[in-house]
Amino acid sequence: MAHDRATSAEHFWMPFTANRQFKGSPRLLERAEGMYYTDTDGRQVIDGTAGLWCCNAGHGRREITEAVSRQIAQLDFAPTFQMGHPLPFELAERLAQISPAGLNRVFFTNSGSESADTALKIALAYQRAIGQGSRTRLIGRELAYHGVGFGGISVGGMANNRKAFGALLPGVDHLPHTLDLQRNAFSRGLPEHGAERADELERLVTLHGAENIAAVIVEPMSGSAGVILPPKGYLQRLREITRKHGILLIFDEVITGFGRVGEAFAAQRWGVTPDILTCAKGLTNGAIPMGAVLVDEQIHEAFMHGPESTIEFFHGYTYSGHPVACAAALATQEIYQRENLFQKAIELEDYWQDALFSLQGLPNVTDIRTVGLVSGIQFAAHADGVGKRGYEVFRQCFEDGLLARASGDTIALSPALIVEREHIDAMIERLADAIRKAG
Ligand code: PLP
Repeated sequence: MAHDRATSAEHFWMPFTANRQFKGSPRLLERAEGMYYTDTDGRQVIDGTAGLWCCNAGHGRREITEAVSRQIAQLDFAPTFQMGHPLPFELAERLAQISPAGLNRVFFTNSGSESADTALKIALAYQRAIGQGSRTRLIGRELAYHGVGFGGISVGGMANNRKAFGALLPGVDHLPHTLDLQRNAFSRGLPEHGAERADELERLVTLHGAENIAAVIVEPMSGSAGVILPPKGYLQRLREITRKHGILLIFDEVITGFGRVGEAFAAQRWGVTPDILTCAKGLTNGAIPMGAVLVDEQIHEAFMHGPESTIEFFHGYTYSGHPVACAAALATQEIYQRENLFQKAIELEDYWQDALFSLQGLPNVTDIRTVGLVSGIQFAAHADGVGKRGYEVFRQCFEDGLLARASGDTIALSPALIVEREHIDAMIERLADAIRKAG
């Protein structure tokens, strides 16, 4: 491998990676600063993906580094089971200030996957706590990604993430996805068509009875399956139907959280407040693993009954509210606020959209979807199979100095919110080149 320490590639079983292909010609990043990575050959690569949708304030933020080093020296770890330390209280209060109305009780996790599973467990336990114990069914959506825990893959809808793992959670249904190239290809912003796909929930209610359904979980915008935007009115419709039937609505904002589509959360940008909201990634700018579940105070209140000596919710992680992660998150939130970064995706949205739409007409481009500071560029599948063209464009981009993300035959771009117009221009130029070369 191109690495100055003589390292064998054998031992690291890489996640979501074609291990043998990768190890044959590895892509190794060694440093990062602002909008750029430097690879182990010393080449600068524009980070078009904010790491993996997580470094929303850009790389190498000194304030985060310092907060983390100070904290690890002062208190490296403290338990939060029947014990505590000040930082998660401070962070939870801070998150409550930016969260959608009422979602001001915060449960900490270490990842998006744990946040999804935690949210599902809160939903089920809540229904039981209010005497609705028959509400055990969960509803996800086709093409959804909610991480890799058994809860998350059960409600998730990406076939490859599910099919090797046998029996998943029972009692799960899936709404139809909202990707519709025939009616919506090359829409600017949210697509016009597809709000009616939320009505499928009414069909499931008729089929199972509302009294058996606990919650619906969706990403307000699906990121991992290739940037699938909610049709106009779709999320509102889901909110109306869930409210009407006493079904909880969970938004998975692991990608959309912290300014990706403008505002702190997509819930605020699109004016729909769920009952529970999950986040991770941008919470700490990707610097230290951490996730959180923001819960409506009335849901939380339903747990706070019975003898005070009783543990109200038998759930938690050794590292829930880890001091170093909290320090990273607090420093990150300070940067977001001081630099007004959640507004950046709104300010740059038109420029970003125009830049992306300049790719329309290039070979094999079948759709461009964009909102805030995120985009999906979809290609016609190669005759040799689905995903081949997407991978080839991704590979070529990296060779040309742009980190993009391939999901099947869609390339996703989601730059840090510190991105400037000149970075956008450079990204689009490299991507256009890569698309032409990939053929
Ligand atoms: N939920 C969504 C919407 C995501 O996009 C992701 C990761 O991309 C996850 C959950 C899982 O997060 P993690 O990889 O931190 O477990």
